[in-house]
Amino acid sequence: MQPDVIVIHYSEIGTKGENREFFERALIKNLKGILGTKRVVKRYGKILVELGAERGEKSALEKFKEKLALCPGVEYFAFARACKLDVESMKKLVESYFEELTKTQKFDEKSFKIETQRSNKSFAIGSQECNKILGEAVASKFAWKVSLKNPEVRIFVEIGEQEIVVYHEKLRGVGGLPVGVSGKIACSFSGGIDSPVAAFMMMKRGCVVELVHFFNYHAGGQNYSLESMRWRFEKIEKLAKRLAEIQGQVSLVAVPFEEFQSRVVELVPGKYRMLIYRRAMMQAIARLAEQNAWGGIVTGDSLGQVASQTLDNLKVIFAAGDGIPKLAPLVGLNKNEIIEIAKKIGTYELSVLPYPDCCSFMIARHPETRARLSEIERLEGKLEIDKWVERAVNERKEFNFKASSSI
Ligand code: ATP
Ligand code: MG
Repeated sequence: MQPDVIVIHYSEIGTKGENREFFERALIKNLKGILGTKRVVKRYGKILVELGAERGEKSALEKFKEKLALCPGVEYFAFARACKLDVESMKKLVESYFEELTKTQKFDEKSFKIETQRSNKSFAIGSQECNKILGEAVASKFAWKVSLKNPEVRIFVEIGEQEIVVYHEKLRGVGGLPVGVSGKIACSFSGGIDSPVAAFMMMKRGCVVELVHFFNYHAGGQNYSLESMRWRFEKIEKLAKRLAEIQGQVSLVAVPFEEFQSRVVELVPGKYRMLIYRRAMMQAIARLAEQNAWGGIVTGDSLGQVASQTLDNLKVIFAAGDGIPKLAPLVGLNKNEIIEIAKKIGTYELSVLPYPDCCSFMIARHPETRARLSEIERLEGKLEIDKWVERAVNERKEFNFKASSSI
């Protein structure tokens, strides 16, 4: 069946009163970026993507489907046929829709239900009457029976301000809020399984997420480029690009922590290294927060997952980096739940690629699980942590990745 439009429904947006228009505008802008089309239009209570040449291209429609299924703010969507706003056209459309559907799919019970929703109150007849007219037309023409309770097929008919749309399959989106309505946030981005999922969770709550990655290697001294460190950086780049497909685009700040790390190894006992290292990351991100308008820091921490993620340790880690909110959306999820989301958003297979993570040799055999802030701060003074963090931040490089279909 060649669709004319994609109908997009959002839910949380609708409940936000005065903000509604602001939210709708954000979602429309995001959809244009993610899908690479300008033909995204607002209707009462929904958004339509008008299809052009894509309507006959299976692969293009598949791509749209994949992207919409992960677009924050989309509650559900449907590939639909559309017609003019009159009863006769509506009847014809439902009949031809049904004809094509029964030609392309096998059905056993052959029972159906028409569900009409009329948001256009000036349309000649009400929704109940539409259900009746359309139901009778289909039942007589196709020898199917109406079942209101448990139909094999539901045909949805939406009577809008400018057109009528008809579809039978509601596809689930991830819901939440459109990216951009909750401000900007930095993600402490390791390239493991967890932090990309944490980034996605915040996109779903309306944040523009920017990635900050700390690494312990750079090729050509201070003048490193993405090119010169590509062989190491490939995984981070791939993950960033994957997230750009969901967000429309994504920025990545790469901060070299190699020198700082050597100093930590030299001066700090093994059991504290990871904590000090994580605190330094918080400090570095906090330093960049104002100029980037980051209103918070998101991490992939999950309580008790590894030794550095006890409540005592998270308190110590999150105490660094001024008063910026530290958010850990995975804190209550089990690893298998996190992996499930990672697979759904397409980051899992990239996250498990090998990467010489800067933290891997920071992991002590017996890490501290009940760190005391005063002891940590004493060690940081000895380290001159502020100086090293500033140096690393000054040597950062910034990159931006756009969604592949971006126009
Ligand atoms: P996984 O646990 O799947 O290996 P992870 O991303 O959770 O990956 P952890 O070692 O558990 O890695 O680190 C906990 C959190 O610390 C990460 O989720 C991330 O927010 C932050 N983090 C760790 N290493 C880095 C890094 N190199 N750059 C930026 N943030 C990091
Ligand atoms: Mg982890």
